[in-house]
Amino acid sequence: MSRLIAMLREMRQRRADRVARAICPGDSWAFTPLYTGGHCPLCGWTPEGYVHTPPPLTRYDRYWAGMAAIAAISVLMLIVVVVAATTRG
Ligand SMILES: [Zn+2]
Repeated sequence: MSRLIAMLREMRQRRADRVARAICPGDSWAFTPLYTGGHCPLCGWTPEGYVHTPPPLTRYDRYWAGMAAIAAISVLMLIVVVVAATTRG
């Protein structure tokens, strides 16, 4: 139960992070810390009290998932072609 509450709190925090903006005191640059890794993109300043939690899908590498999908489709097409070539009606 406490795990569920913690998960809900994390989700709410993440939603708040998506719209949270910070203004760097050094260069007056406004940025959203969620998309910049928690740092100012110009000088690297970190907003006070901000804990960077990357969204769950950033840990998942889209390149290799795409490669795996292409490989799976290639194998499927190979099977379809072999079956079509060997079975004649
Ligand atoms: Zn800065």
